[in-house]
Amino acid sequence: MSKIQMTTPLVEMDGDEMTRILWKMIKEELILPYVDLKTEYYDLGLEHRNETNDQVTFDSAEATKKYGVAVKCATITPNAARMEEYDLKEMWKSPNGTIRAILDGTVFRAPITVKGITPTVSKWKKPITIARHAYGDVYKGVEIKVPGPGKAELVFTGEDGQEIRETIHDFDGPGIIQGMHNLDASIESFARSCFTYALDTKQDLWFATKDTISKKYDHNFKDIFQEIYDKEYAEKFEAAGIEYFYTLIDDAVARVMRSEGGFIWACKNYDGDVMSDMISSAFGSLAMMTSVLVSPQGYYEYEAAHGTVQRHYYKHLKGEETSTNSVASIFAWTGALRKRGELDGNQELMDFADRLEKATLDTIESGTMTKDLALITTLENVNAVNSEGFIKAIAERL
Ligand code: NAD
Repeated sequence: MSKIQMTTPLVEMDGDEMTRILWKMIKEELILPYVDLKTEYYDLGLEHRNETNDQVTFDSAEATKKYGVAVKCATITPNAARMEEYDLKEMWKSPNGTIRAILDGTVFRAPITVKGITPTVSKWKKPITIARHAYGDVYKGVEIKVPGPGKAELVFTGEDGQEIRETIHDFDGPGIIQGMHNLDASIESFARSCFTYALDTKQDLWFATKDTISKKYDHNFKDIFQEIYDKEYAEKFEAAGIEYFYTLIDDAVARVMRSEGGFIWACKNYDGDVMSDMISSAFGSLAMMTSVLVSPQGYYEYEAAHGTVQRHYYKHLKGEETSTNSVASIFAWTGALRKRGELDGNQELMDFADRLEKATLDTIESGTMTKDLALITTLENVNAVNSEGFIKAIAERL
């Protein structure tokens, strides 16, 4: 059998711990036998980030700008314990944060649905994709604990000396105040990433804020989305047969619960933080969530939504058996290969991505799955296998 050829390389970002082990198995068992894989490899494992003073993370993001498509393994974000464990020179920043800042992208998270793992919300038939704006608002807020009576004001001083002043509150006792901000440029990038991804996946886009209460702040989000939609995307959406739908956040939540799914829900930073955990747990498992970073220029970086599964890695190091779910990492690869195929006009590569996804889902639906899914499935006669056994079972089907 001749292997599928690639014309342009994928940017491959390797990672840490258990997901690094799975990464190698996925490549060897599921991809290399079928695809003449071309990648530009960056080792984002913590040891190599430390050796390169994190330069490798920056280089991998720049390479993504050059080639357009990347696939990333989960990586450790260092904390105090990791400083000691890996004898780090510095507490390096989260690679995802660094890459997101360089690509100016928005993260879209979608559950992988499969027969036998039923959503808690029985009406949901199709995945709901959450897009979270990853800049500003309360995450860059400034707060004061007001000690006692006094006047709180919001003041803007322009570079030209212009002053804008609003009274927040005349306090007659202790209280609290908070100042927060966002940037038009960031909201515009967020909007363009959302519209691009909706067109790309041919799904409706919902967006919601509380603009009836927040008449300037939230209203600005609403206006920017609407202006960009009208000017740059309305015709394309019509041609694709999809819709942009704006509503109030409380109305959106009610509609989401009554919907069948199958759309993208764009959320402000805080809403996205809260709602993405609600969606992922309601669909079944963190191990079944994919994640893709989409830049407004149309660069894509695919990954699993979960972390490095540290607990399983320590078991693995002790020589114990693990049953780690590789589905989201496999779908990171298929997402990237399919997008590469699409951009290069490589139908064979796109078909291969479809076949690998189908083989993965069929394996689960036939009853062979890792322990995390075996615990929650509605299927009977389940064959719970270890990390390697699951990947081998998919390979057999493929
Ligand atoms: P985690 O997602 O690795 O694990 C959280 C829990 O979910 C674990 O207890 C595990 O039982 C379960 N789980 C997650 N994925 C699973 C899978 N594929 N199969 C079976 N069970 C699975 O998150 P964590 O433990 O909080 O973090 C571990 C490391 O991962 C940390 O160092 C953190 O910095 C990193 N992290 C990286 C990313 C990323 O690169 N995108 C995201 C989150 C966390």
